[in-house]
Amino acid sequence: MIRCINEEKETLYASNCEESLTRKLSKEKKLYCPNCMINVIFKKGKVMSAHFAHRDSDCVVNHSEPETNSHIKGKEILYDWIKEKYPTAFVEYEYPISETGQIADVYVKHTEGEMKDIRWAFEFQHSPLSSADWETRHNLYESAGIQDFWILDKARFMKFSTAQGITDARLRKDLESTIFSKVGVCYFLDLESKVMTIDFKFITSWDTKIVKGIERKTEYTYHHPIQHSFHIDGVRMRMNDEFKHGVLVFDKVEEQMEPTLSSILSSLRHKLEEKLEQQLQDQAKKKKTYAETNYESQDADIIWDFMKRNKEHIKDDVRNLSETNFFKKYSNYIDTAISNNKELDLLEKSDDLVQKSLRGFISFTDVNKMTFLNKQSDKSLEEYLKLEYKDKIALIEYVYNTHRKVLDKLASSNQRHIKSKLETINSWLITYEKNPTAIDYAIRYRRCENIEEIDKYVEQIREEIIDYDPFVDFDLW
Ligand SMILES: [Zn+2]
Repeated sequence: MIRCINEEKETLYASNCEESLTRKLSKEKKLYCPNCMINVIFKKGKVMSAHFAHRDSDCVVNHSEPETNSHIKGKEILYDWIKEKYPTAFVEYEYPISETGQIADVYVKHTEGEMKDIRWAFEFQHSPLSSADWETRHNLYESAGIQDFWILDKARFMKFSTAQGITDARLRKDLESTIFSKVGVCYFLDLESKVMTIDFKFITSWDTKIVKGIERKTEYTYHHPIQHSFHIDGVRMRMNDEFKHGVLVFDKVEEQMEPTLSSILSSLRHKLEEKLEQQLQDQAKKKKTYAETNYESQDADIIWDFMKRNKEHIKDDVRNLSETNFFKKYSNYIDTAISNNKELDLLEKSDDLVQKSLRGFISFTDVNKMTFLNKQSDKSLEEYLKLEYKDKIALIEYVYNTHRKVLDKLASSNQRHIKSKLETINSWLITYEKNPTAIDYAIRYRRCENIEEIDKYVEQIREEIIDYDPFVDFDLW
């Protein structure tokens, strides 16, 4: 590691602390790991850069890779680069992330302006790392709202095909491919030249060779353009306002990176949508549980149905309001929906002409919808329906009172016969009641527009069904 603390809790940086004094403190065991507070020693040799190390064992807090020259160098380059670009930001080596228990190689917290409170973690990766471990660490940073930048040691990770006659084709191993597909870009740093390479677009080519008379096709992956490296001083962070998401770019390739940048944005949008939907589901479940504990089970079912049918209207409140506040805000709607369901049950069982007619104008799904509940306002369901459909009810009452004999005849005849006959007149005049009454036949006329239309149908029924002479068919024998 690059930093430690002394007895006064002051930070010492291996690269720029006074060497003889630090060696003295080290000998006196007065240097500590800032993470686990255990004694550390100062090390500086001909090969290794100056750094601090735990005396006997590994750090109990920071289980990161054993320190290497490359790792130290990579961290230093990134640290200096960020310090230079963002002089007002808080930048620190090997910084513990309290939310996740991680230690970021270089941690950045912006302190002012539009960037205020944005947090970054830069990880310089020199040692091997599995994709699974990378993903775990990446997801942890993400869960803490910290954007992580993984800068791979170019000497270790950027590989090219060694096939004969093939130049510039890349050999992409698991880690680089995983980072590239998850993040949209992959960064490499050359420690010697301080040149950064940004992977953002690959193309595939096929090479065909004839081996022993058989055609062999081999796939090669190239970066396009081939030139996509630049000195780190020319690399800058391009920030997106919507997500406060940063991507490293440099002028020479920025234009060619545009399609990549927009696909990164759309995947961020997609991710956000998924996150919001998940939040919504979780919150909806909580409201459902609340309903189940505070209402009769039948009513709780109605509430759940109310929530599902009005999802678009209420989703923000489902997501943001506490259970108590949600039920307080929607209590009027919920109470009306519950009583609507009960009224509808009664209407269904009723033998009264008007009440039975009303049932035909409304379904159980309608009475829980907010659009309906708004129109219904503070009226009872029956009051509301009677008012809303008074013209239709008048028509039903008309057919029932005026053509009662015809309706009675239909009800008392063989229903299979009546059904098939009515089919030829108009199928919506058919009732599907098992033992229909004149009322059941009367309410079918709710679709008629006026008395004339009703009379026309009744006349047709009289002619084709009631006064129909069955003996006409006798010659069929
Ligand atoms: Zn430690």
